[in-house]
Amino acid sequence: MSLLEIKHLNKSYDSKTNVLKDINFEIESGDLVSVIGPSGAGKSTLLRCINRMVNFDDGKIIFDGKDTTHYKKRELRKLRTDIGMVFQHYNLVPRLTVIENVLHGRLGYKSTIQGLLSMFTEVEKENAFSLLDTLGIVEHAYKRCDQLSGGQQQRVGIARALIQNPKLILCDEPIASLDPNASKVIMTYLKQITRDMNITCIVNLHQVDVAREYSDRIIALNKGAVVFDGSHLQLTEERMNHVYGMETRELITV
Ligand code: ADP
Repeated sequence: MSLLEIKHLNKSYDSKTNVLKDINFEIESGDLVSVIGPSGAGKSTLLRCINRMVNFDDGKIIFDGKDTTHYKKRELRKLRTDIGMVFQHYNLVPRLTVIENVLHGRLGYKSTIQGLLSMFTEVEKENAFSLLDTLGIVEHAYKRCDQLSGGQQQRVGIARALIQNPKLILCDEPIASLDPNASKVIMTYLKQITRDMNITCIVNLHQVDVAREYSDRIIALNKGAVVFDGSHLQLTEERMNHVYGMETRELITV
């Protein structure tokens, strides 16, 4: 059974222009799938439809065997504990410590009052330290997040997603603000997470060369439609031109 099935998904923001047009694909557990395509192609909107940060007009999204299309408040809350999110600008609370930010990933499991009082169990705290250790930043646990480099902050963002115990992690341009070395570290950790923890990752990427190096599969969007879906070996020069068009093609590093 696929972890995620997207069927005939259409989305518009203004009910005139379709930002996503008849999107169809399935994703298996434990894959690292990159979504590439020019700016404005709909990559971010696609990710936001999957965890329902935005609603879509029609189509179906089936996650872990359940049709989430008509999910309301309570079901959406549960869905979002199963789907972690990693953002380009990390979305951490800068004045809080690393460990506090990681523990925030557990808030989806708490009542409002437990959340307000930051009531976390010993097991949750142990897990948070263990994840920081896995991601190589445990020595920074008590530092404020704004004292960390961009790459380290993104690792905190990944730990915060992982502590949710998700089945799927959506990463929206996770390396767009990082230098090449920090980008490599982040992509290596994402790859490791899919392989060792059997967590599926869908990663929006600008950098085609990175998508080629780390992904099990690449899905390319152009103007809201899927124009390529396959392995990096199948992403030939000709198909790349189809994804980006000849004009924008020169701007992309391959
Ligand atoms: P990408 O991630 O590939 O750059 P986006 O999903 O961000 O693409 O955007 C796809 C299209 O949807 C763009 O034309 C963008 O301007 C539009 N768009 C994105 N978010 C909104 C929004 N909140 N309201 C209106 N239009 C939006």
